Amino acid sequence: MPKNLALRWTGLLLLLLNFVSAHQTRAQSFIQIVTHNVSYVFNERLYFEATFESDKPLAAGRVVFHQERASKLETERIELNGNSKLSIDFELDVGTAPEAFSKVIYWFVVATQDGLAYESPAYEFLYEDNRFEWQTLEASPFQVRWHSGGGSFGESILSAAKKGVARTQQWLPLAAPSQIILQVYEYPSDVQEVLQLAGYSWLGGHSDPALGRILLSIPPNSQSSLEIERQVPHEVAHVMLFQALGPEAYGNLPIWLTEGIASNAELYSDPVRGQLLNLAYGGNHLLPIAGLCEVFPQTTANARLAYAEVASFVDYLHEEYGVVGLGALIDAYSENFDCLNAPRALFGMDLGELEQDWISATFSPSSSWQTLLESLPWQSILVSGLFVGTLFLLQRALAKRGTESK
Ligand SMILES: [Zn+2]
Repeated sequence: MPKNLALRWTGLLLLLLNFVSAHQTRAQSFIQIVTHNVSYVFNERLYFEATFESDKPLAAGRVVFHQERASKLETERIELNGNSKLSIDFELDVGTAPEAFSKVIYWFVVATQDGLAYESPAYEFLYEDNRFEWQTLEASPFQVRWHSGGGSFGESILSAAKKGVARTQQWLPLAAPSQIILQVYEYPSDVQEVLQLAGYSWLGGHSDPALGRILLSIPPNSQSSLEIERQVPHEVAHVMLFQALGPEAYGNLPIWLTEGIASNAELYSDPVRGQLLNLAYGGNHLLPIAGLCEVFPQTTANARLAYAEVASFVDYLHEEYGVVGLGALIDAYSENFDCLNAPRALFGMDLGELEQDWISATFSPSSSWQTLLESLPWQSILVSGLFVGTLFLLQRALAKRGTESK
């Protein structure tokens, strides 16, 4: 590992540039950059190289770089001792690695032995995840990138993305999206390394709508077509909504609403959503929608229930108030992040009252028992002679429930 690398935040001014501005210097010093290059190993190192022409021997040089809208960083000064080629190998760490997929801007600074300095023009590169050999498939507005699986795998991602657009547009009058990159990894850990975030293990996909980039982990196996049909349209719907509303208005929407819309865009959904809902209703542990305004549960079981609930709740709103009503609700939340009261002006009801209407329309008192009956292993019950006993217990339970509900 090269020892001569170090980092300093640019609060420490470039010593090389203390005396004279770059423009003045260029005119006086006859130094110019001839070639330049940057390469990198994602999340490990950056390599910068440049050659210069100069009428005087070069003494030293360094590189200044920064991610767009972030603080400048500079490498340690490298002694050139008259050499015209500057090579810098910069080790990245948590504090210095650019964010994945960000634009990085950099330039070279060199000085002659008698103190004349030269600053090159600024260059830039896109900091992609180059740990894998990506295959790509493009069909505007989509670019699919995947590293594991054959051509048909990429085709099915693309097809699901297109269907996701159509399905989202059935729900909301949104324009077709502008460019979206779908980057498909094999394992969640690969995505997590990119995101460097905790708490996403239960959330198969992650989209950065602002970058128009969707990260997914879908291994190409016998289950992949279902996972593609679930994850891809869901994330496409998020990005479409973001692109239509802009960052501020999108940021104002409650999570139950954005996740509810995205969940309804899925071509294939969690097959046990209905059962989860009925059991939660029957057991009186439905999650209050008001608790899903700003956060979603982090545990797998509760996250699953939360998705089932918001999908059903938003589906109910769509059925009840139509595309226009749902669109108006989005507008109301865009302008007023009062999760409880924003719907009042529109529907004459607050969130809690809408939730009660959804519950009344969706669940009947018997629905949880129906689920329980369907889930019992009837064959073994009949064979084992437990049938009569089970029936007796169920009858008692139903009678008790009937008394309670009066
Ligand atoms: Zn989502």
